[in-house]
Amino acid sequence: MVVRGKAFSSSTCPKVCVVGGGPAGFYTAQHLIKDVQVDVYERLPVPFGLVRFGVAPDHPEVKNVINTFTQTAKHSRCSFYGNVNVGKDVSVGELLQAYHAVILSYGAEGNRSMGVPGEHLAGVYSAKDFVGWYNGLPSCRELNPDLSCDTAMVLGQGNVALDVARILLSPLDFLKKTDITQPALEALAASRVRRVWIVGRRGPMQVACTIKELREMATLPGTRPEMTPADFEGVRDALKDLPRPRKRLTELMMKTALEPPGEKERERWSGASRVWGFRFFRSPVEVLADSGGKKVAAVRLAVNKLEGSGEAAQAVCTGETEDVPCGLVISSIGYKSLPIDAAVPFDPRRAIVPNSMGRVQQVLGLYCSGWVKTGPTGVIATTMNNSFDTARSLMEDLDSGKLDVSAEKPGSLRIAALLEEKGVNPVVFSDWEKIDRLEVSRGEVCGKPREKLLSVEEMLAVARHLIGHFDLQ
Ligand code: FAD
Ligand code: NAP
Repeated sequence: MVVRGKAFSSSTCPKVCVVGGGPAGFYTAQHLIKDVQVDVYERLPVPFGLVRFGVAPDHPEVKNVINTFTQTAKHSRCSFYGNVNVGKDVSVGELLQAYHAVILSYGAEGNRSMGVPGEHLAGVYSAKDFVGWYNGLPSCRELNPDLSCDTAMVLGQGNVALDVARILLSPLDFLKKTDITQPALEALAASRVRRVWIVGRRGPMQVACTIKELREMATLPGTRPEMTPADFEGVRDALKDLPRPRKRLTELMMKTALEPPGEKERERWSGASRVWGFRFFRSPVEVLADSGGKKVAAVRLAVNKLEGSGEAAQAVCTGETEDVPCGLVISSIGYKSLPIDAAVPFDPRRAIVPNSMGRVQQVLGLYCSGWVKTGPTGVIATTMNNSFDTARSLMEDLDSGKLDVSAEKPGSLRIAALLEEKGVNPVVFSDWEKIDRLEVSRGEVCGKPREKLLSVEEMLAVARHLIGHFDLQ
């Protein structure tokens, strides 16, 4: 084997491992397997991270990246080990001893909290948990969100907020053809939510969502928008100076909010039983309880004004507040990476592993990619690019000799022995394929692309061939 001019015999082929089997893990591996052996360790028995547990069920086309990840996983120089929780089952230090390099690609599994009184009342959920619940993330299986109220408030105006609002308001006929979980489908069928406010601290020109997602809201069958025209004061005049993508997004926002509906919209709006709208210049300051003191009844919002303009404009409180009644609150103000091992540097303020071009500061042989490298923003294509950048940094270090690969490393042999001592049985890719086949065949029965398994225990039992399709009916 040749790594840019350096010849490696098969016994000294560099061995690296990736922590996390989401887009960052697989894109980093995809770049590296051209030259080195890559093992991917994933906490769950199933791969693909947020592509499986984040991407909305009604966006199946986005999930096609799974085909590319599958090709990588099946490459002769790549191995997948699911059901391995790095930081608990095996430490990063042990990985660094067993491999020439370790790449942390474990994403952002926490969420930013609002930091306001009342945010722990019943009826308040993080978008991370709500999304995890409708997408079958095992840890969110018991969430059972209370959808018995009329009005929901989603805090934040990014694409996750729009995913959540759309799922809450989508016609059941749409959702039942997706891979949304059966319990979520049943809860949504019984939902009494008829109105969703999507609340942002800044204005219409600062929303974080993108045009495709806004258009999906604006054309969602059975719904009509309800906005506050005063929020759009001065926006038309500012349009000409906006960069093109922001200009097109703002034009669509204004059309949706201010223009009389065309014929098609008029028809949809007149038959609409559900309403949604953006509420701008509002920050949550308190979640207010009902008379029993346990459940959310309203959110107190501070009324803001903007200082500065464009993307950098800052929300500043005017001192005024307003109380908006709602029985369901979903906080969608961003995900957050968490430290997984005390020995790994972590910047608590930015909630990332501090790095330069993917090289973890102060630890030779340790790299990072994806959301744990950059923070929790960016679509899959952005994650792909930053993961390729990290892989390039690693290859440069191999080329320059900064990363010493002269001594052979045991790689997965050593880790397998450590895991066995702890009674941890990894799930290999062919085990995942058994789970995959079973999920797809369960989905076929009810006209869905797949019916996901909802617990780690079920996943492991299927991977080990302990239970099959009929046991899970
Ligand atoms: P993740 O996808 O989170 O993958 C991290 C992986 O690491 C997970 O599999 C996790 O289980 C594993 N892991 C965590 N801790 C450990 C540990 N200790 N040991 C081993 N493994 C561990 N982008 C789009 O382009 N289109 C969309 O439609 C879209 N929808 C989205 C919807 C939501 C709700 C969210 C939150 C994001 C969405 N994105 C979308 C963005 C996209 O999902 C991210 O860009 C991408 O998933 C980030 O990849 P990642 O690998 O860094 O993180
Ligand atoms: P995001 O795009 O960063 O949006 C976060 C939202 O929360 C913003 O409106 C932000 O407002 C607001 N916010 C942050 N802190 C706040 C606070 N303290 N108080 C009030 N509001 C606050 O994050 P996201 O929606 O979680 O999405 C993460 C990434 O995944 C994004 O890059 C997104 O595009 C991607 N994604 C893509 C898709 C898709 O392509 N369909 C779907 C889902 C997610 P400010 O702007 O004022 O900070």
